[in-house]
Amino acid sequence: MIYLGAHLSSAGGFYKMGLAAVGIEANTFAFFCRNPRGSRAKAADPADLEKLRGLLREGQFGPLVAHAPYIMNPCSKDEGIRNLAAEIMAGDLQLMEYLPGNYYNFHPGSHVGQGVDAGCRMIGDMLNRVLRPDQNTVVLLETMAGKGSEIGGRFEELRQILDMVELQDKVGVCMDTCHVSDAGYDVRSHLDDVLEEFDRVIGLERLKACHINDSMNPLGARKDRHAPIGEGTIGLEGIVGFITHPKLRCLPFILETPHDTPGHGREIALLRREIGER
Ligand code: FE
Ligand code: FE
Ligand code: ZN
Repeated sequence: MIYLGAHLSSAGGFYKMGLAAVGIEANTFAFFCRNPRGSRAKAADPADLEKLRGLLREGQFGPLVAHAPYIMNPCSKDEGIRNLAAEIMAGDLQLMEYLPGNYYNFHPGSHVGQGVDAGCRMIGDMLNRVLRPDQNTVVLLETMAGKGSEIGGRFEELRQILDMVELQDKVGVCMDTCHVSDAGYDVRSHLDDVLEEFDRVIGLERLKACHINDSMNPLGARKDRHAPIGEGTIGLEGIVGFITHPKLRCLPFILETPHDTPGHGREIALLRREIGER
């Protein structure tokens, strides 16, 4: 069975989120460690998290992929905003210690005119401030669409950040199909070439998780607007080719398509049917 899931709400508690995942036949999922729009951390409820750990074990879940809040910008011009990003990530990683062995994904950020090199340096600096040798979470840089001054639209930029990190075993990459397509990497028709390029520039062993989204825009549009699976420019066949690729199929795949949880359940069922798992 491939690991397939969606972004779920943690608002009702972590165990309840696990039950929601089971309800849509997911065996991985993504979530925010806190209110996505605010920066305030929720107090961890160890009993709730322990119940989730039990459920994940019993359900033979694959690795989870927590998502950092969107308000984080580790390469902002403003030192206060950069410090806030570090504080948020440190807090989230503390919570993740209750769910050891999983992933925490973040958007590298927007350099807002400071330039790619300066931006990458700030992101690397933040990671070196926040990562701890004893943490049990691997932090993932997400591939981005390259909208505006966003960093991470090129594999080279992610490599530049990864090269700065002291604790090499605590970092990796999460590939988002909509983002890479919008950035100009043709995962629909030339997936082998894209993976070869990823391997040459970053190293495929660094790729730990994927977001699977169709895209509302054509290859290279630099837009970042997710479409439901099969309703965008990557298409159902493109997405199925992606999740069944021999170099990818053991990774966790997370849907971030514009649906509620039942809608994600229908997409999971559709994909499992397409790949012959039900
Ligand atoms: Fe993301
Ligand atoms: Fe994503
Ligand atoms: Zn996106």
